[in-house]
Amino acid sequence: MRGHPWVFREGVARMPEVEPGDVVSVEGADGRALGLALCDPGGAIAVRMLSSPEADEAALVRARLASAFDLRARLFASGETTAYRLLNGEGDGLPGIVVDRYADVAVARLDGEAPARFFTRHLGAFVAALHAAGVVSVGARRADARAGEVKIEDLEGEVPRDVLVREHRMKMWVDLHHGQKTGAFLDQRESRRRVRELAAGRRVLNLFSYAGGFSLAAAQGGATHTTSVDLAAGGHKTGARSFQENGLDPRAHAWITADAFTFLEGARARGEAWDLVICDPPSFAHNERSRARGLAAYRKLHAAAAAVLARGGALCAASCSSHVTHDDFLSTLDVAATGRALRLHELTGPPADHPITPAWPEGRYLKFAWLTEL
Ligand code: SAH
Repeated sequence: MRGHPWVFREGVARMPEVEPGDVVSVEGADGRALGLALCDPGGAIAVRMLSSPEADEAALVRARLASAFDLRARLFASGETTAYRLLNGEGDGLPGIVVDRYADVAVARLDGEAPARFFTRHLGAFVAALHAAGVVSVGARRADARAGEVKIEDLEGEVPRDVLVREHRMKMWVDLHHGQKTGAFLDQRESRRRVRELAAGRRVLNLFSYAGGFSLAAAQGGATHTTSVDLAAGGHKTGARSFQENGLDPRAHAWITADAFTFLEGARARGEAWDLVICDPPSFAHNERSRARGLAAYRKLHAAAAAVLARGGALCAASCSSHVTHDDFLSTLDVAATGRALRLHELTGPPADHPITPAWPEGRYLKFAWLTEL
């Protein structure tokens, strides 16, 4: 083992009689003790390593929470950003448990039954650590819950419908009960900052805009006009509220409820072009089998986005699929794929509040590329 935090069910030689969420000691094939692990005997990920010599489970949880929260307190000490990831599951040594903070609200996302039971068993420690960090209300949503249908379960206090947060001083409304992920895409914080820097004096197209975070960043950065395109209308309302909160008139911008591919076809036919195009779709490859199909979809999308790029324009393209490697992703942005000669300025991933372990490819999911035409 080189530190990968999971053992799949096929890889377990002997599973003791345990319930999902139980913690056991794991031995390697050579009989060497590998440390404690969280078990889900019936799950695909049967074992999630806690990778610790610590024998006492409660002490381990307290130590991991203290370490994770201390790091965020340092990262966000200035107070300019009040929405961030407090705990990133495997990357912070508490597998399958993600906790995002939105001002004084925390929302946990639990990846399956074993992490959910483990979390419930240690809820007291989580709530105590969250209170100490200034969090007032705590809720949980299951990772497998589909967007639009989820209710956040109150665990401590009452989780409000929505909450106003700051991101690099930009004010953003987050819809906690209808939102995706735990409410917002916190992993794109630095990408939004980059867009804010690039947008002055430009016409901006934001595809797959959700709650309009990139549009807001662009408008704040001085974009002359933004167009937000998403299949779902709900995000546009949240986006418009965020514009107002920052003294920007949402009616001076376009909010279009449409399929991005169809929109791009129409825009091309009308001869429309934008100076900056942002393209941040949902994952097109959910597993290894759909990888080839996913890559074809990224290629098609990037070609269509590049086709509406004004001369010398900038394209910001993202992928949130862990099944698409960085190299694969770049292959969907080269001149053969897009028909435009684009230079790559940077290829980034999630910010420092989303740590991963080095030997965990599944954790390296997000790619954000900023390119401009020569
Ligand atoms: N860029 C956003 C996150 C995008 S999440 C941000 O920074 O916050 C993906 C979004 O794509 C969702 O809002 C979903 O409604 C939308 N979506 C999914 N399929 C789509 C399609 N075919 N056309 C347009 N939007 C789509």
